Amino acid sequence: MSSSVIDFIATEARFGAQNYAPIGVVLSRGEGVWVWDTEGNRYLDCLSAYSAVSQGHCHPKILAAMVEQAHRLTLTSRAFHNDQLALFYEEIAALTGSHKVLPMNSGAEAVESAIKSVRKWGYEVKGVPDGQAEIIVCANNFHGRTLGIVGFSTDPETHGHFGPFAPGFRIIPFGDAAALEQAITPNTVAFLVEPIQGEAGVVIPPAGYFTKVRELCTANNVMLVLDEIQTGLGRTGKLLAEQHEGIEADVTLLGKALSGGFYPVSAVLSNNDVLGTLRPGQHGSTFGGNPLACAVARAAMRVLVEEGMIENAARQGARFLDGLKDIRANTIREVRGRGLMLAVELHPEAGRARRYCEALQGKGILAKDTHEQTIRIAPPLVISSDQVDWALERLATTLTQDFS
Ligand SMILES: *Cc1c(COP(=O)(O)O)cnc(C)c1O
Repeated sequence: MSSSVIDFIATEARFGAQNYAPIGVVLSRGEGVWVWDTEGNRYLDCLSAYSAVSQGHCHPKILAAMVEQAHRLTLTSRAFHNDQLALFYEEIAALTGSHKVLPMNSGAEAVESAIKSVRKWGYEVKGVPDGQAEIIVCANNFHGRTLGIVGFSTDPETHGHFGPFAPGFRIIPFGDAAALEQAITPNTVAFLVEPIQGEAGVVIPPAGYFTKVRELCTANNVMLVLDEIQTGLGRTGKLLAEQHEGIEADVTLLGKALSGGFYPVSAVLSNNDVLGTLRPGQHGSTFGGNPLACAVARAAMRVLVEEGMIENAARQGARFLDGLKDIRANTIREVRGRGLMLAVELHPEAGRARRYCEALQGKGILAKDTHEQTIRIAPPLVISSDQVDWALERLATTLTQDFS
């Protein structure tokens, strides 16, 4: 059906659950940093599907790998071996320096799988009494939308009226190592944390926080689980955000850009015996580790490295952040970011961030507001200097307007 005979927005609203409030643009095509709407208008994508299309829209090499694999074999289930999984394991382990890999699909599934695995490790290796394992998490976390995960969210929108929830989680402030030290008990099996809190508005912890966190986890035999689903794979200008503090997590979670936006692919990576506690029949996923997912993820990881996207994220991220800092506008309270994970926080009097995002849409930029006052900026990692400057010009004219 052509765009002239169907009103996409009204039809979505009529049939769909209303669990999103999208900006009023209907996209039909993407290439690199650009997307086009059904009318042919072009936009710079400054959300990148929450960092899932870091490699740029419809990257030709990932596309070719996907099409080639789809012609050969898509799904075997893990009841049989396939000729892509071993290669995926080998390549993701080499890239990240991990020893064990558990392939899943969505990010939330990777988080759930990590929770199951660290609990099992706690009972079988650390010796925590059965049913007593505790996991420490941070306030304002975002780890996904499944029941197990939303139960330890502190955002009322996220958990309201979805209970009852599973016990076994303790919530501490983010960026506060002393709070972690106090919260650890003999039954603590893991500390689950984002290196930078993305959904909370790109909240960067104080320097030295993760060094201290690493020390505390090691001293207390607590597994450090870093949710790098958004920060990982180059987004912050390093392969993994943990590298900014020179630490190594015990368990690392990847998703989103692991497929370059082609397919849901996630993974739990562990550097010790956490994943080693899983035995046949104790965990699984029909689609996890399927040959199509593995072929796509292999290509997505390959182009990230071969095409220098991680270095580009560091370089263009610094340029973008400097440019944002140079914008003199009364509406801006703070700009912050690491690599191409950036945010502009508005003054409460400036009006809602949503209005600024709508104004940016009118200028050819798609960005997403988060928590009323913050505009998040996270373009694909293939963005060029000219494109950064182009975006900055439009951001400057938009932010000097006042939508209060
Ligand atoms: C997006 C995200 C998730 C959840 O991933 P889904 O694929 O949406 O389930 C988990 N953790 C973080 C940090 C994320 O950004």
